[in-house]
Amino acid sequence: MTALRPEVAESDPSRKPDEHPLAVDATTPESTGLVQLHESIATLLASRGQWRQAYQHLRSALDAVYADQGEPPRVPEQLRREVDRLRREHAEAREQSLRDSLTDSYNRRYLDQRLLAILAERGSSRHGLAIALMDLDWFKQVNDTFGHLLGDRVLQRVVELLQTDLPADAFCARYGGEEFVLVLPNVTPTAAVDIVEAARERVECHEWSCVAPGLRVTVSGGMAYEPPVEAVPSRPPVSAEQQLLRADSLLYTAKQSGRNAVAYRENGRVKLAGPAAGRRAITDSRVLGYY
Ligand code: GH3
Ligand code: MG
Ligand code: MG
Repeated sequence: MTALRPEVAESDPSRKPDEHPLAVDATTPESTGLVQLHESIATLLASRGQWRQAYQHLRSALDAVYADQGEPPRVPEQLRREVDRLRREHAEAREQSLRDSLTDSYNRRYLDQRLLAILAERGSSRHGLAIALMDLDWFKQVNDTFGHLLGDRVLQRVVELLQTDLPADAFCARYGGEEFVLVLPNVTPTAAVDIVEAARERVECHEWSCVAPGLRVTVSGGMAYEPPVEAVPSRPPVSAEQQLLRADSLLYTAKQSGRNAVAYRENGRVKLAGPAAGRRAITDSRVLGYY
């Protein structure tokens, strides 16, 4: 008999009582393709916690390996389709687990995973890493005035605006509530300021009155920059948490200095980007960092 989907095979009335539900005509050690297919299905099922079905596929793989020599079996089309379906579902489920359900931006899990990977590669990077924490201004008032549902739509639109025109390896992730993180690997400090300031400006200049008459939305940002290792070899490596803390304290500066602004450090001094540069940057002792 040919292999069937586990749930189909379980209820197959033609199956003999002692016959393995997923038994296949795999009778030669050359049946590598079939063995690999069973292994693939088993791996995918195991990753979904379907241990029993995974075990059955492993058994079928083993049966194929140890069976008598004969003609190499053809991989049944149904089995191929099953593998494709499971692979597709697995990829979709994985992608979904890394996305925020409201805004479809990446979520904290993705952010943590990517930052770990980026920091691990930091030694080989010619440029530094910029992390900007972006927070909607007076967002509670938006909810209070226009309602929570419209607030949700605003968050969705803000994400679209924040991630427009980001460099290819940069991304936006929802940090929580109305806070988002822009991660910009491999950038110079000047480029990082320009990119984050442009994102702030896109939100400010959006036609918000088309979403609701009288609506206005702005964001503030704190951008923390870490140079590549080779630029300051004596400097101890900075963790993602430390860099995020610095971005957070710079965000505090942007808020205290009048909002709708991006704060960053340059040569030890805290500055505001773009049109806000003329304002006084109000900092406090929480603003840490070299850059
Ligand atoms: P500030 O400029 O100081 O950041 O002021 P704020 O009003 O934006 O900050 P505050 O922390 O007082 O309020 C944040 C608001 O964000 C309150 C909360 O209800 C709202 N919020 C957080 N997550 C969501 C969400 O998923 N949907 C909606 N509609 N609102 C949210
Ligand atoms: Mg906030
Ligand atoms: Mg806010």
